[in-house]
Amino acid sequence: MNTHSLQTRLLHNDQKFDPQTGAVSVPIQQSSTFHQQDFDTPGDYDYSRSGNPTRTALEETIAGLENGTKGFAFASGMAAISTAFMLLSKGDHIVITKDVYGGTFRMIHDVLHRFGIDHTFVDMTDLHEVATAIKPNTKLLYIETPSNPTLEITDISAVAKLAKANNCLTFVDNTFMTPALQRPLDLGADLVLHSATKFIAGHSDVVAGLAVTNRKDVAEALSFLQNSFGSILGAHDCWLVLRGLKTLHCRITQSSQSAAKVAEALSSHPLVEHVYYPGFRCHPGNSTHTYQSDGYGAVLSFRLRDEEAVRQFTKAVEIPVYAVSLGAVESILSYPARMSHASMPKEERAKRGITDGLLRLSVGLEKPEDLIADFSQALNQIERTAEVRRVSI
Ligand SMILES: *Cc1c(COP(=O)(O)O)cnc(C)c1O
Repeated sequence: MNTHSLQTRLLHNDQKFDPQTGAVSVPIQQSSTFHQQDFDTPGDYDYSRSGNPTRTALEETIAGLENGTKGFAFASGMAAISTAFMLLSKGDHIVITKDVYGGTFRMIHDVLHRFGIDHTFVDMTDLHEVATAIKPNTKLLYIETPSNPTLEITDISAVAKLAKANNCLTFVDNTFMTPALQRPLDLGADLVLHSATKFIAGHSDVVAGLAVTNRKDVAEALSFLQNSFGSILGAHDCWLVLRGLKTLHCRITQSSQSAAKVAEALSSHPLVEHVYYPGFRCHPGNSTHTYQSDGYGAVLSFRLRDEEAVRQFTKAVEIPVYAVSLGAVESILSYPARMSHASMPKEERAKRGITDGLLRLSVGLEKPEDLIADFSQALNQIERTAEVRRVSI
């Protein structure tokens, strides 16, 4: 087992070079099928839905980084999450965090429900509420921490303990943290899920999903489901994710440092009603997050007065792209009420603090002082309209 730190293992792992040619970039095996010498001794690969060498390279790499035993690569984060839900059966019940990713909400609420899989949304930061929601048929506790987009923190090991005591599985969507900052399997989770579209690939050029477990039974069941559903990641996209992974540590470290500066600057501006950022000492989840993670990440949210203020601000801001998604080299500003959480009814959004004034920012690799100056001038555009005094942040 490679004992180096994660930062080093991103580069020096089993995929360091191709044993056949010495190539230091994993070969892209763009082949759907594989010649079989004879039918008594099939090779390692037969058909690329079941397995492909480039995908294996990615699956082994992510398994190692999450300290798991088996990794899986899927066509998207939602493909990974949806396939993992298929570990459940009709009649089962899920306890899930109320401020879950919008696509996961839609899957649970509009799809699994039709197949007789029931759910209860809870405030996962409240262990008592989690414990109370567990029923005799509960099979899964589903965590997202920090949550999206209000950055609430769930105590992973406490929830995993509760799950074990009740014979349930624990899944953690680790998209916001990546294994560079948080390793849920070490904290007792059974399955880690990722939208690799975000920080892991990191360049806004591929849609991908990953899953990792350290349990043999879960690995076998998920292998079967991955092959049955077939929502696998193609060889070329696997290569893009592998390339993104090499710079994961330095990207997320730099972006996280900048996010701390931006959060601080935004919180001192009078037109910003609230900044959601787990790195603030006054954040209710700060001590839990500090205990279970190696950093506060590069995503923060902030609340302006209303939709009109958001409209004026987003019109004036120059640097970040205004888009869905996060975790890229460029800063991405998004409007959850109309983007990631648009599929959630307004009253459900309100319960989760996703107001019409809430913006989410994923900080990229730009110079933080440039971002701060840009946000300052954009906030001042709102102020002029509202005839509030100008301030610089
Ligand atoms: C984007 C995202 C997903 C879904 O991933 P896709 O790659 O878009 O399918 C799931 N969870 C979180 C936290 C995300 O940000």
